[in-house]
Amino acid sequence: MLQVNEAEAIIYSLLQPLDSQLDTETVDLLGAAGRILAKPITSHLDFPHWDNSAMDGYAVRYEDVKNCNPENPAVLSIIEEIPAGYQPERTLAPGETARIFTGAVVPAGADTIVMQEVTQCEENRVSIIKAPKLGEFIRKKASYYQAGNELLPAGIVINAPEIAVLAAAQCQKLCVYRKVKVAILSTGDELVTVDKTLQPGQIVDSNNYALIALVQQLGAEAISYGIVPDKEEVLKETIEKAIKGADIVISSGGVSVGEYDYVEKILESLGGKLHIRSVAMKPGKPLTVAAFPNSKLYYGLPGNPASALVTFWRFVQPAIKKLSGLKDGWQPAFIKAKASNELRSDGKRETYIWGKLKLKDGEYEFEIAGGNQVSGNLINLAQTNALAILPEGTKQISQGQAVKVFVA
Ligand code: AMP
Ligand code: MG
Repeated sequence: MLQVNEAEAIIYSLLQPLDSQLDTETVDLLGAAGRILAKPITSHLDFPHWDNSAMDGYAVRYEDVKNCNPENPAVLSIIEEIPAGYQPERTLAPGETARIFTGAVVPAGADTIVMQEVTQCEENRVSIIKAPKLGEFIRKKASYYQAGNELLPAGIVINAPEIAVLAAAQCQKLCVYRKVKVAILSTGDELVTVDKTLQPGQIVDSNNYALIALVQQLGAEAISYGIVPDKEEVLKETIEKAIKGADIVISSGGVSVGEYDYVEKILESLGGKLHIRSVAMKPGKPLTVAAFPNSKLYYGLPGNPASALVTFWRFVQPAIKKLSGLKDGWQPAFIKAKASNELRSDGKRETYIWGKLKLKDGEYEFEIAGGNQVSGNLINLAQTNALAILPEGTKQISQGQAVKVFVA
């Protein structure tokens, strides 16, 4: 049985991220939200494109106003008005100024903007009553970004801030990584879809729905094979098909040691190399991971809903993120929180306790989910967003003590 960190290291070593040349597609700017940039972006535009004003006020020659004060204002004649969006027509000569607005192009001859709050205007003249600093309130051309440099690197998620930058740079089409394809199947004769009337012994295949949602939330494509009965041949056929059409295959159930647990045997018969058969964690001990040619990865998650969720968060989620082309931030996030309740374990295996991470008075607190902390219980998974981790050998963490928390 592997330790959790050993299993994690094995999984990471098996991952072959998407190829920045081969595994890409072109999307429109708005279709790029949430996608991962496959190629760096460079712009031919400077930012700002021109020297422009950061204030509503007057464009001046510093020389003309540098010594002014309320007793001795500089009086300048207004030769032009420059709203945002217009090209100035005149060059300032000594003693001249242009009325200017935020975002408007600074006219030739001007080197400083005086904000209107320190001016008094009468007709076509303005008195400046406070000396500005040289260059004040001018947003210099190319001071934010110089054309030809890298604007955005490859491997980042495109969110609203990046969309703004890309729009400003007039990038209408973008090269992003294709979505990671994740096949999902559930094993078990007891399982039915959500719409069926339950017969005695039957339960809804809740893992299928949960796993599809988890995969989609990560920006990957979920390919569902639904419920596969506990029949070796059918299961083998389905797994074979699933591996062909996906980068990652996730099954749930059938990886325990029961009579009907065929997954390991099938994986080996299909040429998969089993790297993980069980992990010293609770829940999640029967986790199975196998590698197939072309770097395809198979995860056999335990069937119990809590086990499936915990093992997905801990081992599948970072893998999907890493495969997707994400350069940084694909690793799991752990933080230290204060336990709001006493947390217990039998101390035998690394134990994951589901609950809610909250920010309270600037400090993280972990609140255990109410009800039974058993892997068969799915009801109290609702509204959880984190897992407290009790290392092997730790039987208890008292209320108020620090606990390591996995952020889901
Ligand atoms: P197994 O790993 O197949 O032995 O399943 C362990 C437990 O999880 C059993 O109680 C199953 O009924 C339950 N289970 C298995 N698969 C699912 C699923 N897809 N959705 C909900 N519960 C499941
Ligand atoms: Mg089963």
